[in-house]
Amino acid sequence: MSLRGCAAALAAALAVAAAAPVRAEAPFAFATTPGVLPKDVVPVEYALHLRPDIATRSFHGTQTVTLDVLRPTRSIVMHALEIDVAAASLSGADGTRIALAPPSSDAATQTIAFALPGPLAPGRYALDMAWRGKINGAVEGLYLDRQVDAAGEHLTLATDLEPTSARRVLPCWDEPAFRARFRLTVDIGAGASAYSNMPVAKSVPLAGGGQRVAFEATPPMPSYLLALVAGDLERVEETVAGTRVGVVAGRGKSGRTAYPLAASAQLLRYFNDYFAVPYPLPKLDQIAITGGFNGGMENWGAIVYNESVLLVDPATATAATRQRVHGLIAHEMAHQWFGNLVTMAWWDNLWLNEAFAQWMAIKAGAQAFPQAHLWLRAKGAAENAMELDARATTHPIQQPVTRDSEAENAFDTITYDKGSGFLRMLEAYLGETAFRDGIRTYLARHRYANTTSADLWAALAAASDKPVAAIAADWTTQPGFPLLDVDAQCDGGRRRVVIRQQRFGVPDDGAGASGAAETRWNVPVQLGSVGAGAAEYVLVSEASTAVARDDDCALPLVVDADNVGFFRVRYAAPLFDALATRWSTLPDGARLKLLADTSALVRAGQAPLARWVALVERIDDEPRLAIWDQVLADVERFDRLSVGEPARPALHRFVVGLVAPRFARLGWDERADEPTEARQLRARLAATLSRYGDAATIAEGQRRFARWVAEPTSLAPSLVNTVFEIAGRHADVATYETLLALARRAPTSEERFRAYRAMATARDPALAARTVELVLDRDVPQIVRHELLASVALWDHRELAWAFAREHAGALLADMKLFDGGRAFTAIVAMSASAATADELDAFAQARLPADALVEVRRGEDEIRTRAALKARLWPELAARLADR
Ligand SMILES: [Zn+2]
Repeated sequence: MSLRGCAAALAAALAVAAAAPVRAEAPFAFATTPGVLPKDVVPVEYALHLRPDIATRSFHGTQTVTLDVLRPTRSIVMHALEIDVAAASLSGADGTRIALAPPSSDAATQTIAFALPGPLAPGRYALDMAWRGKINGAVEGLYLDRQVDAAGEHLTLATDLEPTSARRVLPCWDEPAFRARFRLTVDIGAGASAYSNMPVAKSVPLAGGGQRVAFEATPPMPSYLLALVAGDLERVEETVAGTRVGVVAGRGKSGRTAYPLAASAQLLRYFNDYFAVPYPLPKLDQIAITGGFNGGMENWGAIVYNESVLLVDPATATAATRQRVHGLIAHEMAHQWFGNLVTMAWWDNLWLNEAFAQWMAIKAGAQAFPQAHLWLRAKGAAENAMELDARATTHPIQQPVTRDSEAENAFDTITYDKGSGFLRMLEAYLGETAFRDGIRTYLARHRYANTTSADLWAALAAASDKPVAAIAADWTTQPGFPLLDVDAQCDGGRRRVVIRQQRFGVPDDGAGASGAAETRWNVPVQLGSVGAGAAEYVLVSEASTAVARDDDCALPLVVDADNVGFFRVRYAAPLFDALATRWSTLPDGARLKLLADTSALVRAGQAPLARWVALVERIDDEPRLAIWDQVLADVERFDRLSVGEPARPALHRFVVGLVAPRFARLGWDERADEPTEARQLRARLAATLSRYGDAATIAEGQRRFARWVAEPTSLAPSLVNTVFEIAGRHADVATYETLLALARRAPTSEERFRAYRAMATARDPALAARTVELVLDRDVPQIVRHELLASVALWDHRELAWAFAREHAGALLADMKLFDGGRAFTAIVAMSASAATADELDAFAQARLPADALVEVRRGEDEIRTRAALKARLWPELAARLADR
């Protein structure tokens, strides 16, 4: 699964309750894998038939489960949630049939149990069952997506089962280690088409209208990967290396499927080669629906996306859009091997699936778009993870998961982006070839089976001859990451470098305090000199490590020049000054790392603000978007501290002064020969100037929007989102009405979301008050409804959005998964710098949210309190410095 978008991702980018480190673990063994289900009965195949009834938002299900009894047992226990099992019977291999009494259910474990009249002997059995379940409005289990546009209403039936919603569709062994075949049949309307993991085996008309579609059996797989999508859909396809690669979209949208189809074909070839195990299913569909969530779900052979992040309009798509779509498809396709063919044994190893997919997507993208500097840009996500991981409330990458609700909580920034950052560091240390060979061995050895991370470390260690398990244990089972203090002296022409490590922490919450500071890591560190060729690796393991080097002492020492490490570096003052002086000659990665580490150290009170200023003053000619992203993220962090402060306008003038010269040289108009990166930078800088109140940029953006309305081809595609944002943020009533009309009649989700998102940025309080009301309008897409309040709050109107959310909490919670409720409400206030807001959130959550949603709330409260402490510590100094300018 890719991380869910906007509002959810905003809240997901927050820390988690502390957890005890887990020990380095054993290789996979089914019997000792965690979970609630007894391991004496295992499913072999589900022959499953679903008959949805849209009118009553319910469905009938029947199935025959072929199962193996491994040890004598008196009961059969399986998962089932919000489904009513009407009848069941069991037959043995000899044909004897045992009628089963209705099962007892256990709400806490979401299981049902059939008591047997006598002990069941080991052997193969068939369990027949019939039940009734519900079609949800929220995105879980089997759900119905409703989309309204100028052409009318469109209904699509879809499933979303990860991590634990398969049990809402069928009674099943809903834990990843219970692999089984699924042979799905579904009854659908006459004009509809249906897609699942495997190709259609047979489709027959039904007597009363409609059709019965039967799919081929899947390979043995976990229940969370089962998929069904049905509606008014059409498919384009291409055969690549024997696999039928398809893109499925709503009728009339196949004009936007060419790029995702081409990207899928290119990526299939890339992954077949990288993994050296050919994609194992006969077909692979990328399915675009109007609902779901703002990302993708990697169901084996039937990946489901919201159409806004998959479909590409060839007339207006930018290179940046294609890179984003490529990255998302690559993430979900990497899972087809790493996650689906080989699956984590239990949710405590979820990080292995997700971090690998994140890392692999960047690697595949960097290969496909060598000019886009994707590794450098990926550092933005790693920075977010380090921000969270510096706090006392962080958790290890690998954390214990005992309950299903904790599985949902495991989908967070630490899991995805610290995990991915660690894999990047490990690959660089082991070498690309050794790392790839280890992955190939691992996949070949464990295909159609489950693993723990220990199985991966064993394969990587064998391929590289390096102490992978010891390194990995430090990084995956300990919370936090190291700060490396670096000093060096020249001694008779030889440079003696001393590296000391301690846990990096934010002082306001005590992560750097006593015990935590004693934590040690095995840290692979690149040491080199600016302008002196390749760096050498040192594995820093002790509290203090000295390294003698034969390089020229006159050349500045640079640590982690490729920017592959998941640690911070603090240079002694002379070393820092030598690097700052050579700023423009440093490699891209070294510039970004110096800036990002300096910013984090300043905010942690561990380096003077003057160091950050010294670097930012050199930013003027900076060509790399990733480095501008870092600077702009820094000033945004400062801006959040400045809300309501008299010096806020001075901060805004400082930002405009920083950005305007670079933007002036880029100009508003695209040049035919400029790189994609320059176009992305232009859009980013124009949006920044508008946000911080630069009148000339706002006026020009408004003028270009008005012209776009009359003549859409007048605007370069790379500026469309920015110009919409400028129009929305500074909208009057007429502009707001224009945006609303565009949103209502847009033919695609991408255009519809763009218009709604622009409206949500409006400064005018009367317009913001109109926007929040849209949250209750069922014709507004569900994804937009769920993010609108956080968007309105993010800009200027937190009090308005928060009051509205509390007043309408019942209606809002009824519209989403309970788990998402914690994220959605937290996201509205998470950018506050006032501890009082954290108290309000806490009081609200205690009163209105279920216990399982509170983990997200605690993350948000921690975020707010950390920011409040930062404001008290840093803002006075920053304000004084701004006043001097
Ligand atoms: Zn994923």
